[in-house]
Amino acid sequence: MTRKEQMFCNEGNLPTHVPSARDICTKSSRYGYMAGMSYLCIVLPVFIATSYFSIHVYHKMDNHWFMQVIVPEEMPDALKAGMDRGGVSSALQQEILQLAEFHTYPAPGVLIGAFMVDYAMELLGVTKGRKLYGVCETPKCLPDALQVMAHITIGNNRLKIVPIGKFAITINLPSEDGIADAVRVYVDLEKLKKYPTIEIWYANSPAFDKKTMKGQLFDEIFCAGRNILSFERVRVTVKKKEKWSSVTCLCCGETVPDYLIEGDRCGACSSMKYYAKI
Ligand SMILES: [Zn+2]
Repeated sequence: MTRKEQMFCNEGNLPTHVPSARDICTKSSRYGYMAGMSYLCIVLPVFIATSYFSIHVYHKMDNHWFMQVIVPEEMPDALKAGMDRGGVSSALQQEILQLAEFHTYPAPGVLIGAFMVDYAMELLGVTKGRKLYGVCETPKCLPDALQVMAHITIGNNRLKIVPIGKFAITINLPSEDGIADAVRVYVDLEKLKKYPTIEIWYANSPAFDKKTMKGQLFDEIFCAGRNILSFERVRVTVKKKEKWSSVTCLCCGETVPDYLIEGDRCGACSSMKYYAKI
């Protein structure tokens, strides 16, 4: 007998236990259970996450809303449904969607800002296309509503941001007199009491959970519209355009308007220095 034959005939290598039909069934049901559990724990969540990502991110990218983490309440369709429920006019709905896209996502502050600008323009008796000036009392969210809806922009130099920290805007028509009558619209804390979710969000309260309460917040914002706002007639000073000449900074050799030179240096070489050369 060869060594190979010996190996095959070696009794010690023979299985001592022949599996019965019951054993096979138990084993296969165990495999079935394990397969089921892996499906539930691994495959299904991965499938759901992938579908969510592909549907929502693709849709969002299609709308150029790809800068932020997406939640279902922020999707244009969901916003539109919320605005329908709140009775927002279709014209304002369009503006709100454009504004949210410009802002890269529908921040609650931007949505409230849309109602503020819409209200302020109506109070001032102006429609789109009029040359307007504005002041915004916070750098957060609200300036974008003035920029997109009233074309009061940083770039056209008609928007002034005063970082007071209030959710308020003032808009006025051009004036040659050095002063102008204006309308100031602000979020009225007294009126917020009717809208508990907006109230706790606005107060930056820990009671507001943005993971679970965003939809509710949007619903209240759309339902409230102007009802959380108040206004006052005010007067603002208007700066006249001044003539200027160009001067050269002795430090960097670049030029700036004369009214911005600090001694013999430009802002970047003195008080407004914000970069180091590499
Ligand atoms: Zn300089």
